[in-house]
Amino acid sequence: MAELLEFQNVTKIYSRGLISKQSTTALNNVSLKLDEDEPTILTVAGESGSGKTTLAMLLLGFIEPSAGTIFYKGKDITKLRGEERMTFRREVQAVFQDPFAVFNPFYTVDHLLTVPIEKFRLAKTKAEAKDRMEEALTAVGLRPEDILGRFPHQLSGGQRQRINVARALLLKPKLLVADEPVSMVDASLRATILETLRNLQKNYGVSIIYITHDLTTAYHIAKSIMVLYRGNLMEAGDVDTVIKTPQHPYTRLLIDSIPWPDLSRRWGESAALVKESEISDHGDGCRFYARCPHAMEKCKAPPPLFRMEPHQAASCYLHDRFPEISPDHVYELLPV
Ligand code: ADP
Ligand code: MG
Repeated sequence: MAELLEFQNVTKIYSRGLISKQSTTALNNVSLKLDEDEPTILTVAGESGSGKTTLAMLLLGFIEPSAGTIFYKGKDITKLRGEERMTFRREVQAVFQDPFAVFNPFYTVDHLLTVPIEKFRLAKTKAEAKDRMEEALTAVGLRPEDILGRFPHQLSGGQRQRINVARALLLKPKLLVADEPVSMVDASLRATILETLRNLQKNYGVSIIYITHDLTTAYHIAKSIMVLYRGNLMEAGDVDTVIKTPQHPYTRLLIDSIPWPDLSRRWGESAALVKESEISDHGDGCRFYARCPHAMEKCKAPPPLFRMEPHQAASCYLHDRFPEISPDHVYELLPV
């Protein structure tokens, strides 16, 4: 396996306040690997505050881990310099939640697309630059003649988000991190944007880390899934298996809380929602303890990952009859 991306036991702790020394563990000992030769779509799912954006920021190199290492093509990304750093900046692209955020309202779309072409010297002439833009826009299902020359406010949210994907595609990325890319887009347009992402993976060989709080979209787009809760991996595996037969009470809660149009199965139990302020940590124990309908005494010690299927494991003592799998072997659970 030639590794494109590897998270090796990555932890991120944010400290706030010099005096009170409050700290938040946004990500705790998370490991994953993506293979360069087999582009795939991996979903990272969880509610707000579970550490998803932190994971994206870490992998883009915007922030550094407090512990552990992130490798891109075998190199620690915090140590990339010169040419290597430039390659990393080009090959690893992002699409964020707000389709408006990257647009300057005073410039046409052309400007947004020209900047990366110039920065990374992707074209020698103006004509070549225009070809590149048209190619990228067409690849995401937009008609260049509808888009070029327009200002951001003249476009729909769905068009803007597709332009963001086109902008990333211009750079011929190997890895795209999409952080809740459809959560601010009208429901009617979500499917087409997700389809666009899937085509990038299929037709252009781009691996995608798809970040979402919405398991319905995960189910439609991804091959594998990692479910986070308050920075900790709760469940990981094949997306079909995890969503149809979730094994962690937290994954069940997530699945229970959405209306499923195409899955008839419902879980009888439903974990009560608890206010954030009522959540106490019980030291190192399971982060889900306070909300879990199955909480037991032993959950006050950190639950290992138990592997119930070749492509499914859950960090929960309900499954302690199954063999343990080390957190840094999570990639074995993720089909490509
Ligand atoms: P998500 O994207 O899943 O909503 P985040 O990664 O944004 O989660 O946040 C994870 C946790 O880290 C949250 O508790 C959040 O409040 C905290 N956090 C995020 N960014 C910062 C920061 N810059 N400083 C301090 N705490 C932060
Ligand atoms: Mg977020």
